[in-house]
Amino acid sequence: MALNTLKVQTENQKVNLPILEEKKVLLLIKREDRIHPLISGNKYRKLKYNIKKAKIAQYGTLLTFGGAFSNHIIATACAAHENGLRSVGIIRGEELTFKWKENPTLLKATELGMQLKFVSRKDYRNKHSPEFIEKLKAEFGCVYILPEGGTNDLAIKGCEEILIDKDKSFNIICSSVGTGGTIAGIINSKAREQRVIGFPALKGDFLKEDICKFATNDQWNLQKDYHFGGYGKVTLELINFINNFKKETQIPLDPIYTGKMMFGILDMIKKDKFAERTKILAIHTGGLQGIAGMNTILKKKKLPLINI
Ligand SMILES: *Cc1c(COP(=O)(O)O)cnc(C)c1O
Repeated sequence: MALNTLKVQTENQKVNLPILEEKKVLLLIKREDRIHPLISGNKYRKLKYNIKKAKIAQYGTLLTFGGAFSNHIIATACAAHENGLRSVGIIRGEELTFKWKENPTLLKATELGMQLKFVSRKDYRNKHSPEFIEKLKAEFGCVYILPEGGTNDLAIKGCEEILIDKDKSFNIICSSVGTGGTIAGIINSKAREQRVIGFPALKGDFLKEDICKFATNDQWNLQKDYHFGGYGKVTLELINFINNFKKETQIPLDPIYTGKMMFGILDMIKKDKFAERTKILAIHTGGLQGIAGMNTILKKKKLPLINI
């Protein structure tokens, strides 16, 4: 993760599927997943200016928060490692204390030097409270703190670099939504006539407000029908969709974010929500590292696995 390079640009790949020809809709996918195998997609964008700031201010350690399969945790561990910083991960779930080595994301994070601290779900819920932060500072010293999911002003500045000049030809930009930081950056950097559609990966009505805090215009909306039961939840229908999409297009999707977004986009196209000749750009925000962890869960549930 070289920080002093020019702005990273990723390729837009055309998606070829019969339904797109039938409905005369053009769909391309911006392969942000190819930025880095572990600091993938939007996590690179969100970390870039934070790492720069941490280094300039001479912090030695990044500290952040996440669940057991978090793309943000692994990305932070890897970005810290590549930039000569230490890292601490505050992980939700005390029960993981003795079995984290079975978790591919956490195992890899520790191999990259991240120190893990497991906390109860109750403590985790209060993680951004001043008291909890003071405790962490007492334990880990002077640390640069990134919020859960990595969303802050500098993260949004980084996400404003996802779209580039040549993307102005699209009518619609689609993105998956977790905390809303990524879509806020996209909204702020889109061309005037473009519209942004977000596909939340979780249930709940708080996202709109969170995005409004950072967004500088209102030409966007959320499609809330594609969370598949909530954050981290998957169904047989979603797994089959991801595997078929990969077989037909050679494009891999992750089950937490991009799989749900792409399912939603194609479902809307099927239902004639877009006029003929609409040009859609979907952002592949990455997250492919999480497939291995999801497969360990699917195996236990005797569901089919996601093809890597
Ligand atoms: C974290 C993540 C998101 C959500 O990004 P937010 O900025 O939190 O909305 C979307 N896609 C992938 C692959 C992610 O890892």
